[in-house]
Amino acid sequence: MGSITDNYNQTVNQYLENIDSRTIEYAVDTVIEFVRYANREPKGLLDFHNGSKQPKEENYKYDVFEKAHAALSLDKWDRSKIGSGEICKYASDAIAFTDNLVNRHFAVPDFLNRLKDPDKQKRDKCEQALYEIYLGDDEEKAFNDAISCFGAKYPIIAFLFFIKDRDRFLPTSPDTFDSIFNSMGLSFKMSAKCGWNNYCEFIAIIKCAQDMLSKSGVCRHTVSLLDAHSAIWIMNYEEFKSWRKTIDDINIPMRPKNTIYKPDGTSDYVCARCNYQFIQTSRCPECGQLMKE
Ligand SMILES: [Zn+2]
Repeated sequence: MGSITDNYNQTVNQYLENIDSRTIEYAVDTVIEFVRYANREPKGLLDFHNGSKQPKEENYKYDVFEKAHAALSLDKWDRSKIGSGEICKYASDAIAFTDNLVNRHFAVPDFLNRLKDPDKQKRDKCEQALYEIYLGDDEEKAFNDAISCFGAKYPIIAFLFFIKDRDRFLPTSPDTFDSIFNSMGLSFKMSAKCGWNNYCEFIAIIKCAQDMLSKSGVCRHTVSLLDAHSAIWIMNYEEFKSWRKTIDDINIPMRPKNTIYKPDGTSDYVCARCNYQFIQTSRCPECGQLMKE
């Protein structure tokens, strides 16, 4: 007999096998480089978990998970509660803790309105869908049922899954991730594509980043799926984007990595971009980087 997680594992692994891992590795390396730069931490181990070594706090997501998951009070759920109104009540309690993971001006009020629909049949359908997400045995079907109740609202549905299990599911913001993936050089898109397979592909990308971050050995902690999500999310920071522009532009002068003084009174530069060693000039002859004198 299969387990509830089989569909998830198969689908995510299938995407993982075909993923462009070199592109993801390059993105992860760039984020690591940025975090080192932003924290003036050129060598030591980094912490993507407690946020202390990040430009901004990303660790609030753990807090969101704890509070929202606890508010669901899943130990009090059973099938007989479907139609009682209690399940809708627990879900609205949990959604109070989204922080900025879900838009609180539009998406959250819309979700809450659906839980309070005057039509009892619709409310019962919501309770059924919520029950299937947390305690049902078919997560793909639960995802589809959630779409039919709450609309193809990716941030809400992803959040509902995220607060079920933060080691398997993630919150998302489709527009932002589209722009992040585009800047990474991945063609994967999430906007207007809310669906189980798209969600599993998204998770596979973050899982690949998790593996890369883990393998890099730069973290002082075990890298969770959520830590990898935070790391990739850094690519959306304005500070990251402007830093990246400067490292990508060879016309912005860069200090040589090293200056080697020779006995004849001349000196060599070692290029900080490509490590090429050359007689002191204004540009690296290898990569064209302009040197800061
Ligand atoms: Zn160079």
